[in-house]
Amino acid sequence: MVARIIPVDPFDLVIFGGTGDLARRKIYPGLYQRMKAGQMPAEARIVGAARSEHDDEEFRGIVRDALIEFVPEKDIDSETLEAFLACLSYEAVDARGDAGWEELKGHIRDGVVHAFYFSVAPSLFGDLAERLHTYGMAGDGCRIVVEKPFGHDLASAKELNATLEKHFSEEQIYRIDHYLGKETVQNLMAVRFGNVLFEPLWNAQYVDHIQITVAETVGVGGRGEYYDRSGAMRDMVQNHLMQLLCLIAMEPPSRFGSDEVRDEKLKVIRALEPVQPHHIIRGQYEAKGDEPDFREDAGDPRSRTESFIALRLAISNWRWAGTPFYLRTGKKLKARTSEIAVVFKDAPHSIFDETGKSHRNILTIRLQPNEGMELCVTIKEPGPGGMRLVDVPLDMTFADALGPDGADIPEAYERLIMDVIRGNQTLFMRGDEVEAAWAWTDPLIAGWEARNDVPKPYEPGSSGPEDALMLMHRDGRKWREIKA
Ligand code: NAD
Repeated sequence: MVARIIPVDPFDLVIFGGTGDLARRKIYPGLYQRMKAGQMPAEARIVGAARSEHDDEEFRGIVRDALIEFVPEKDIDSETLEAFLACLSYEAVDARGDAGWEELKGHIRDGVVHAFYFSVAPSLFGDLAERLHTYGMAGDGCRIVVEKPFGHDLASAKELNATLEKHFSEEQIYRIDHYLGKETVQNLMAVRFGNVLFEPLWNAQYVDHIQITVAETVGVGGRGEYYDRSGAMRDMVQNHLMQLLCLIAMEPPSRFGSDEVRDEKLKVIRALEPVQPHHIIRGQYEAKGDEPDFREDAGDPRSRTESFIALRLAISNWRWAGTPFYLRTGKKLKARTSEIAVVFKDAPHSIFDETGKSHRNILTIRLQPNEGMELCVTIKEPGPGGMRLVDVPLDMTFADALGPDGADIPEAYERLIMDVIRGNQTLFMRGDEVEAAWAWTDPLIAGWEARNDVPKPYEPGSSGPEDALMLMHRDGRKWREIKA
């Protein structure tokens, strides 16, 4: 199946933080892939803007090195590479001062889409917004792209929204959550709302529970100090896991439009019940071999920040009353995997002589590795010997189902940047959504701080602390195995 590529309109994309890690690892490789796919028009221009002094040639060298390092070798071809580098230019700009801004303005052309990517520390977002306005680049049609983290709590998120909204309307602000750019996440919506098969069963009557797991094998490493101020709740749950939960739980929007989808997601966040303290399990990884424990990585021997969290959530509305949502995420776990599992209830009555055996349909949406979906169904075990049932997966991995082109799933950043140029905000977080997520998160954090909650230790390479397993055992359920 050959993918249909529609080129986007010509654009000027300024990347603040254009020499930084994110730009090199994700943004340039993403744009390169879109050029290779034929989606970037020849008239597109990309301007790197950062503090350090470079001329255009040096900057192209930086980007060339980044592409060689981060684009799979099979995708590098010299023709596309040279064409891509030819689109680039550089301006040294100080977000906190006036150096470079007039010169940057000289790069901006009339009659094309203008987008400004804030790939810098969040403390600079306000300065950038202010100076884009002062130097006359914050016109009506332009867009700004804002990276995570979006605030540290409700108060800081509100302040950040207010700062950006001084010069840009909500329609101009694209808050990135790269989980939303994943193919499978969108496919989740296609499966839910494009088939009659699932939606009638997508409720508390048929769904026993839902599990969302985002497991990493790495520790906090060099980011220890930053992470110590955030923890798994702020770093992962408030944004990524919350977004996945919303897409799973939301009501069908009237159309796949940006406000229609985001209105429904917002309703889910607002319907979340307060979480009981015993439904929150926090953990910290221990030392193993030469590898230090979390506290040492964080540089604070008394740190109470969680590197793991598991929660049991309830959504108070007609659709989900009685169906728990179990979320967990953590560092240094058994395998690197992200998945959502919708676990359906047993058939109400078994006509087969299988007393006590449970057979459950499970729809698994895998975000990584190998993006795809799997539906577990019950069939007869083949062969003679009576009617024995067995659960088998119907694998819907895109690469298998869609042929060779199905395997070429664009990276989240590729899609999201193209959506910015197209002016499509559906896969970006709206300001009120982010604030609602913080309004839900803040009291939980305040609660465990007030209780002086100490995270439970867990062994690196495990599935997290024992108490997290108990969270489900107590309900007569169990987590799916964490495996790659
Ligand atoms: P980085 O430290 O590697 O790069 C920062 C960039 O900002 C550099 O290009 C630097 O020159 C520029 N900069 C710093 N001060 C400046 C100033 N006063 N004026 C102009 N430019 C200035 O950071 P990063 O890892 O690329 O992260 C950038 C943003 O993306 C942050 O908000 C971060 O939270 C977010 N983010 C990063 C990742 C990642 O994987 N690196 C992932 C998710 C989100």
